[in-house]
Amino acid sequence: MTEAQAPINAPARHTFDISIVGAGIIGLALARELSARWPKASILLLEQNDGVGQETSSRNSEVIHAGLYYPPGSLKARLCVRGNALLYSYCARHDIPHRRIGKLIVAQQGEELSLDQLQASALACGVDSLTRLSAQDLTRLEPQVRASAALWSPDTGIVDSHALMQNLQYEAEKNGVLCATRSRFMRAECRGPGIFDIDIDADSDHNNDVKDIFCIRSRMLINCAGLSAGRVAASISGIDQQLIPEMHLVKGNYFSLSGRSPFRHLIYPVPDARQRGLGIHTTLDLAGQCRFGPDIEPVSSISYRVHETRRSAFADAIKTYYPALDETRLQPAYAGIRPRLSPAFADFMIQDEYVHGCPGLIQLFGIESPGLTASLALAELVTLKLQDQAPL
Ligand SMILES: Cc1cc2nc3c(=O)[nH]c(=O)nc-3n(C[C@H](O)[C@H](O)[C@H](O)COP(=O)(O)OP(=O)(O)OC[C@H]3O[C@@H](n4cnc5c(N)ncnc54)[C@H](O)[C@@H]3O)c2cc1C
Repeated sequence: MTEAQAPINAPARHTFDISIVGAGIIGLALARELSARWPKASILLLEQNDGVGQETSSRNSEVIHAGLYYPPGSLKARLCVRGNALLYSYCARHDIPHRRIGKLIVAQQGEELSLDQLQASALACGVDSLTRLSAQDLTRLEPQVRASAALWSPDTGIVDSHALMQNLQYEAEKNGVLCATRSRFMRAECRGPGIFDIDIDADSDHNNDVKDIFCIRSRMLINCAGLSAGRVAASISGIDQQLIPEMHLVKGNYFSLSGRSPFRHLIYPVPDARQRGLGIHTTLDLAGQCRFGPDIEPVSSISYRVHETRRSAFADAIKTYYPALDETRLQPAYAGIRPRLSPAFADFMIQDEYVHGCPGLIQLFGIESPGLTASLALAELVTLKLQDQAPL
């Protein structure tokens, strides 16, 4: 049977209380939270790839953000601050490799005012841990960095995102969640309040013309398909298509620095207001390897290749705060793609019944940075929304 011919009317073979589309960090955090909150609920977590977390959730900086950059009161600000605390505590309880190594935001001559603005905005978001450093203080902490002033953020850290996702999957499965990989959500029809018939392609090879489609029924449906969230939303019949936001794909490339890292902390320039990015910054992984990025590259399709040609733009940006950079040590590393909702600031978008009028359906759009940091807080919030809409 071809994809186009597959009927949605096939009798549903299984019934679930909750179906989640997408096993990135958000789907995994949700599966864990929902299964802990409702131990008797039957929960299905659908993932199209061979394994969980193979898209944006494994193509990021692995930074636990402190919540400095987002407008006060926005979901990004609130969920980042709450998520930061939840994530440190979760990592400590479950022995997930992480380090609270701290971050320096460094200003060049003439940019000092941006540090004041950032500190004031962070304070309005509830982040009161930032301290101002002089050029001398900075040199003591990071002798290789050149800047005229800096902000020190002690609550920024790094985490092993793969270990985190594995642990969330382990906990969810222990609580009874059925995590189905190689299982692609194809389409759903809302047959009434809290009744979704969902077609799933359980074919291991999605390029194959012959599809193995089966149908399940679910009381609740959560779309956290990341870069494909818009496509998934468009495949749910009965939803106003005008509500599906346009997505702008913005690639972020990384270069790694071969050899020993010259830094002990994360180093960020002042944010680039024009490009709505954090600027090409320095992060470290848990093994101490130094990498730079992500940059900002609007794209029209998904390709994770990092082109050599970007090296000189990286070198120029890095040299503003690390003049001793030896460009030959820069190696193209990896890339991730942001599911951005607007070229200007756009908040995380959570659409529930009050937006689309369909009880039991939650859709998440634009879960770009700080989605990793916010994941446990986002899971908490969605669980509360479901409890409110369709208690189990
Ligand atoms: C370059 C970059 C750097 C970042 N750095 C940081 C950082 O340092 N700190 C931070 O907090 N955040 C960071 N982020 C943000 C963070 O990585 C994301 O917010 C987070 O990973 C989003 O997770 P997700 O689960 O929504 O999406 P994804 O990880 O993309 O998961 C979605 C899943 O849905 C699956 N799926 C899609 N369609 C279907 C379908 N039809 N059927 C079944 N499954 C489907 C996909 O295969 C995928 O596994 C960064 C993002 C980028 C791009």
